[in-house]
Amino acid sequence: MSIKDENDRHEKHRHEEGGCQCGAVRYRTTNQPARAMACHCITCRLRTGSPYGVGVYFDEKDVEFLQGEMSVYKFNSDTSDRWIRNEFCLRCGTAVSWTLEMRPGLRAIAGGTFDNPDWYPIQAHIWTRSARSDMCYPDGIPQHEKSLSG
Ligand SMILES: [Zn+2]
Ligand SMILES: [Zn+2]
Repeated sequence: MSIKDENDRHEKHRHEEGGCQCGAVRYRTTNQPARAMACHCITCRLRTGSPYGVGVYFDEKDVEFLQGEMSVYKFNSDTSDRWIRNEFCLRCGTAVSWTLEMRPGLRAIAGGTFDNPDWYPIQAHIWTRSARSDMCYPDGIPQHEKSLSG
């Protein structure tokens, strides 16, 4: 096997870990994410309490929760009117993960909770129409007024 093939294999089966602020919740992801988006929608703003949220979406089977108890808050998105199941640490409240009615089979991990917060590239900034007016976007990253599809 060439070095390149070995690197590709390593990338494919890559493991990353992360967790909440208090350390109670820990998870491990395997493989590359299906998508990774910075989202400025109102739902993500309130879910995270910050100007935008970063969602790193994996095939559900590629996310394993290692420890800790999470509470679930299920609500309807302001933008899609479909449900989101937001999961957060019962002890410290960090929003660690969520699933969406719109994306069956995928599980999102909150991008800032990885031990290494920049191992994955952010593919796009979406719902920029509800972003802060002083938001600065990185060069070369696509921006979408709404979601990717429209
Ligand atoms: Zn915690
Ligand atoms: Zn959003």
